[in-house]
Amino acid sequence: MKAAVLERPATPLVVREISGPRPGHGEVLLKVDACGVCRTDLHIIDGELPPPKQPLVLGHQVVGRVVESGAGARGFRDGQRVGVPWLGGACGECRYCRGGYENLCDQARYTGFHIDGGFAEMCVADERFAVALPQECTPAKTAPLLCAGLIGYRAYKLTRCGEPDGSGGMTGPGTKRIGFYGFGSSASILIQVALHNGQEVYAFVRPGDTQGRDFALAMGAAWAGGSDERPARELDAAIIFAPVGELVPEALTAVRRGGVVVCAGIHMSDIPAFPYEKLWGERTLRSVSNLTRRDSQEFMNLAREISVKTEVTVYSLDEINRAVEDLRKGHIAGSAVVTVNGS
Ligand SMILES: [Zn+2]
Ligand SMILES: [Zn+2]
Repeated sequence: MKAAVLERPATPLVVREISGPRPGHGEVLLKVDACGVCRTDLHIIDGELPPPKQPLVLGHQVVGRVVESGAGARGFRDGQRVGVPWLGGACGECRYCRGGYENLCDQARYTGFHIDGGFAEMCVADERFAVALPQECTPAKTAPLLCAGLIGYRAYKLTRCGEPDGSGGMTGPGTKRIGFYGFGSSASILIQVALHNGQEVYAFVRPGDTQGRDFALAMGAAWAGGSDERPARELDAAIIFAPVGELVPEALTAVRRGGVVVCAGIHMSDIPAFPYEKLWGERTLRSVSNLTRRDSQEFMNLAREISVKTEVTVYSLDEINRAVEDLRKGHIAGSAVVTVNGS
């Protein structure tokens, strides 16, 4: 089969023939329709996240159809449309897995990292970690939901500030105004969830990126400007999507006392030293790591319920290095997606 292969870090992907995968116990074999390109792929290609196997097929926002089920796999029927996200496996037995935090499992395995991913004509997935998708979905439009959407959603859930009131709600001022630092694939999806929940979104883009600013405003942001600017209103929470450590003290300065700053990326440049007073006032600074299957279910249901739309730029598998470079340069409004098998 044809696949885009990372032979070693800091080199372009090579589109070439490799032997096709076979579904093992509990696995399904998929014919890939589309696979989203994520910033994590850039970090792996650049060696900031050293790939655990080489050569490696990246891609962890996979939409495909089941063509074969391995021994013991009974969750999907042939021809069924499924999605494969970043979390490709977890041990199920450690204290994290048992406590509902399989995203923190030491033995977790990730699609397009430990397991060959979706920048290929075929891939395999553990059926327990694959997500059923609507049969009629458009693969290229759906792919970005599987990481930008899902992990963005987990970051979004962590922006709830206040104290549990004992009846499932929260007390305190709550989260009305959310800042998004970086307005790419994830932010363009999560703004739809925030607006649905009646929140205001403040979008921070690279200084001078008027296209990014206009895109955010067109998506419904209450305010959009450079990350060196400050809106007139204090924020309740912020999500930092861009992998830029300098944004951490900026975001802490923009949020109110008791507010939350969530770093949504898997990798970030070093955070510069900053005065303690930026954190003082019970502000919380935290990261988000990976996703759980519960996040997948919740978010995919929500995306369907509120008809989340994605803005995509589509590339063929042969054009994958161009997709990677466009994403790196911030030339994409929304999400970059590779379509495979002529879909
Ligand atoms: Zn991703
Ligand atoms: Zn575990």
